[in-house]
Amino acid sequence: MRTTTGWQLDGGTLRRAPLERRDLRADDVAVRVDYCGVCHSDLHAIHSHPAEGAGPLVPGHEFTGVVSEVGPEVTRFVPGDAVAVGNIVDSCGACDMCLRGQENFCATFPTLTYGGTDRVDGTVTLGGYSREHVVREGFVYPLPDGLDPAAAAPLLCAGVTVWEPLRALGVGPGSRVAVAGLGGLGHLAVRLAVALGAETTVVSRTPDKAADAGRLGAHSTVLSTDETQMATARGRFDVVIDTVAVPHDLAPYLGLLRLDGTLSLLGHLGAVDLQVMDLLVGRKRLMSAGSGGRPATAELLEFCATHGVVADVEVLPSAAVDEALRRLERGDVRYRLVLDLADLDRRP
Ligand SMILES: [Zn+2]
Ligand SMILES: [Zn+2]
Repeated sequence: MRTTTGWQLDGGTLRRAPLERRDLRADDVAVRVDYCGVCHSDLHAIHSHPAEGAGPLVPGHEFTGVVSEVGPEVTRFVPGDAVAVGNIVDSCGACDMCLRGQENFCATFPTLTYGGTDRVDGTVTLGGYSREHVVREGFVYPLPDGLDPAAAAPLLCAGVTVWEPLRALGVGPGSRVAVAGLGGLGHLAVRLAVALGAETTVVSRTPDKAADAGRLGAHSTVLSTDETQMATARGRFDVVIDTVAVPHDLAPYLGLLRLDGTLSLLGHLGAVDLQVMDLLVGRKRLMSAGSGGRPATAELLEFCATHGVVADVEVLPSAAVDEALRRLERGDVRYRLVLDLADLDRRP
C-alpha cells in the first residue's frame, strides 16, 4: 500500500487523516491531486453517511493534478503529465452502455470515484479531497494546455453533466437554449451553450444573478418571478436546461419550449409533479442525464481548451473544507469552490 493524506469523515466532520492507496496495478496511474471541486454530491454524501456500518468517506470527484507514477502497461501517460479525473473511475467495459461510451450508465453500475467499490479488491474508493489518487488509465483524461487546472476541475462533474445533454440534443448555431438556475451546473451550461453557438437565455429567480448572466455570455435574461417576462418568453426555446436543485413546478419551464422542445432536468433528481397535457401540447419531451461517459468527457475538455471555457471558481486551501461545505449549503458560492490540496504536504 501507498499512503497519502486526505479529508475523511469522522464523527460528522471531515478531519485530516492518513489514507491508504493501492499499489499500482499494471494499468493504473497515480495522480498527485492539486485541485478538487466541491460538489453538491459531496454535501449529500456527508449528510447521508451513516454513523456506523458504512465504509470510510473521503469526498471529491472532480479534480485535476499531475501524474506521479504509472503502471507498466500504461501507454497514454507519463509522470509529469497534467491530467483530470471525474466522478467515475471504472466500469464493466462490456455492457451496451459501456460499449457505447456511456460508462456513466454502466449496467453493473460504474465504480464511483468515492464511496464506490473497487472492482478488483472490493475496497471502498476514496475521493479527491486527498493528495493522491490511484485510477485506471482509461478513466484519466489529459488536461489540455491552456486550461487553468483549478478552474478546469469543475468541468469533470458539473461541466460534463450539462455537456452531455447539450450535445445529445444537438445544440449549436440556430438553437435557442434557456438555462434555469445559475449555480455550479447552470453557469457552465450558459458558457457551453454560448460557445456551441446557441442563443442563450438565463432564467433566474433573482435579479442579481440575472445581472451576472451577461458576464457569463448569455444573450438575455428572464426573471422567473415576473409573469410578464415569462409570458413573453413562452414557446421560444428548443431546449431548457433546468439545474434548479430543489423540487419545483415544471409547468412554467415546459411552457418556455417550442414544438418538439426538450426540458432537461439535471438539478432536482427526485419525484416531480407533471401534467402530461403540458407535454402533449407542443409534443414536448422531458429528459435527464448525469455525469458523462469517457468520449464526452474527453471531448468536453478539448472543446473547453479551444473555446476558453472554464468554471468561475474560488480556490480555498483544503484545510478550509468545512467552510467550503457550509457556504455551498447556504448557496454562498459564485459559482464553484475548489480546494487546493497543496496544504496537505505541510504538517498540520
Ligand atoms: Zn459532482
Ligand atoms: Zn458496463
